[in-house]
Amino acid sequence: MQNTGTHRTAAPGTATPTPTHCPYCALQCGMSLAPVEGGTVEVFERTDFPVNRGALCGKGRTAPQVLAPGARLTSPLVRSGDGALVPAGWDEALDRIAGNLERTRARYGADALGVFGGGGLTNEKAYALGKFARVVLGTSQIDYNGRFCMSSAAAAGTRAFGLDRGLPFPLEDIPRTGCVILVGSNPAETMPPFLRYLTELRENGGTLIVVDPRRTKTAEQADLHLAPRPGTDLALALGMLHLVVAEGRVDRAYVEERTSGWEEARAAAMAHWPEYVERITGVSVPELREAVRMFCAPDTAMVLTARGPEQQAKGTDTVGAWINLCLATGRAGRPLSGYGCLTGQGNGQGGREHGQKADQLPGYRKLTDPAARRHVAGVWGVDPDSLPGPGRSAYELLDALGTDVRSLLVMGSNPVVSAPRAAHVEGRLRSLDFLAVCDVVLSETAALADVVLPVTQWAEETGTTTNLEGRVLLRRRAITPPDGVRGDLEVLHSLAGRLGVEKGFPTEPEEVFEELRRASAGGPADYSGIDYRRLARENGVFWPCPAPPAPDGTDGTDGTDGTTDVPGAGSVPHPGTPRLFLDRFATDDGRARFVPVAHRPSAEEPDDEYPVLLTTGRVVAQYQSGAQTRRVAELNAAAPGPFVELHPRLAARLGAAEGDPLAVVSRRGRAVAPARITTGIRPDTVFMPFHWPGEGRANTLTNPALDPTSRMPEFKVCAVRVEVAR
Ligand code: SF4
Repeated sequence: MQNTGTHRTAAPGTATPTPTHCPYCALQCGMSLAPVEGGTVEVFERTDFPVNRGALCGKGRTAPQVLAPGARLTSPLVRSGDGALVPAGWDEALDRIAGNLERTRARYGADALGVFGGGGLTNEKAYALGKFARVVLGTSQIDYNGRFCMSSAAAAGTRAFGLDRGLPFPLEDIPRTGCVILVGSNPAETMPPFLRYLTELRENGGTLIVVDPRRTKTAEQADLHLAPRPGTDLALALGMLHLVVAEGRVDRAYVEERTSGWEEARAAAMAHWPEYVERITGVSVPELREAVRMFCAPDTAMVLTARGPEQQAKGTDTVGAWINLCLATGRAGRPLSGYGCLTGQGNGQGGREHGQKADQLPGYRKLTDPAARRHVAGVWGVDPDSLPGPGRSAYELLDALGTDVRSLLVMGSNPVVSAPRAAHVEGRLRSLDFLAVCDVVLSETAALADVVLPVTQWAEETGTTTNLEGRVLLRRRAITPPDGVRGDLEVLHSLAGRLGVEKGFPTEPEEVFEELRRASAGGPADYSGIDYRRLARENGVFWPCPAPPAPDGTDGTDGTDGTTDVPGAGSVPHPGTPRLFLDRFATDDGRARFVPVAHRPSAEEPDDEYPVLLTTGRVVAQYQSGAQTRRVAELNAAAPGPFVELHPRLAARLGAAEGDPLAVVSRRGRAVAPARITTGIRPDTVFMPFHWPGEGRANTLTNPALDPTSRMPEFKVCAVRVEVAR
């Protein structure tokens, strides 16, 4: 089957395309797919989906090319006696995985088994994977690459509001607010269709402030671009809050009525006077004042963060500082105002709500909460005491491979490219007793495995995802998968059976979702009022969406055992919750919590040996570790490899010309990529995209220093030395 990835309007007479969603980022753009003559798969516009209204970026438009048999795995692979990966039958591959997991558990205990999931997995897969780890393997050692994505925003949002959902309002609110501060986000490259919301904002008279060390394509559209030194946006937010107080712009009535902890947060901000902040950040006092004026002048405003402030060893506090700014000015929990996080991966939001995160159970419940354990154990039909406690976070889990964790199952992730300190992580993966990987392609991580299972992709299977707005969506199966591949749910079902658990792992996504509904009922991320029929009808439903009360007055979810009755018994469906916090926040007292935070340096500051700062990110034509997009010719032509972006002054100091190979060296390793010289970056900073393996792998350099709360690694800033690699 060839796959053109053509993006067009379906012609009259064409077979009706199946409406579905893009496999990649958290915007989850709507698209329609149809197999057409000659075995190709074409992408058609889907204008009924409000998020993207038919627009797609090049990644989404070309995504069907990875469906072609030549671009992906179609047979299980097993490591042979001579060390090569060779094709094998499914039974042999599954037996080998089950046997090795069994042997590891018998020898070292259940916690020697690790599971590493992905933010691209559907809700059903994430749910089944978490259940598989805890019920079948009995291990606490499960986490996923979404930990690297937005865990600091999640931690800060939960701390302040009592609940984390990427955006607590729909995207359609953005053009109608008065001012948006976009912190450490470059949607022009990461999710281009999102840009129209910013364009419409400005057309409506609103203003856009972009905070980014680089003058990105997004920053070029801003009314004000602030370019702080990497790792100092916490100080920048504190400096703005200082000025808000000093200029009498605090919304005292709001602070009094809807928040707690203001005095401590105010005192912390007052220690960050503007001149001090200017010295830390490099953002001038007049620029700070202008930002405050622009943010406070309209009646409504928003702060949106992304990986810039979040991927730091102080990411939770950095996001917290921006939330404090929103709270002090009355810009949270009110119409057209609020703080939100632009999540990254396709199901980064739903992936962490349903149990593949080390500390969470389905419904965004805490694994340490006895009532949550009872509820979920009831749905799963197991003793609550049999559920393991919280395990290690993603990097800590990867760091423990080959020592405490001896065998690992990876599903939908490529940590060899995407993890920080990647050469070390690669070494830990190589030191495992046994590694099994489920993927659609032979990723760099799959290439290290003892067994590789080829699995179905987005267009070949049905399932739900939850986009950056908290909108639960139905991805529909549009085409038949090639012979030789199986779904992830089928893999878990087969492994569970081989490991002695015959029931509880259905292979039909809708059946899994029905169980997920019950498991999530009553939890913070309550999906119990959502079902596939409704999703098909409504173009998505925002959680929380509890099941309606049953006619007998019960909540329609909890029966006499308090856990497992089927939801949906009542007659009036809950409408879903597009806008959170308008009446009260999700804290015990209904008030948002200020948290006092203070500037602190990054884990690594420049010194004589490593005098330059490195920051990392993405380019428009590649996605995350590039495992899929590097297999698309058009995307490779647009973005063929890594580069080192640097300022002409730094280039002159190094004696580097455009295209010269530059060696970037950190305390963790060395990467080499051609120079790309631009005035759009600070002279003290270099930038590398992280999509490629090998010599130019940016994550060879990055620092795994962890945020104490979110356990997010510090991808966004580390100290490096740069030299021309002649
Ligand atoms: Fe896919 Fe994101 Fe591009 Fe939309 S913006 S087409 S969801 S990669």
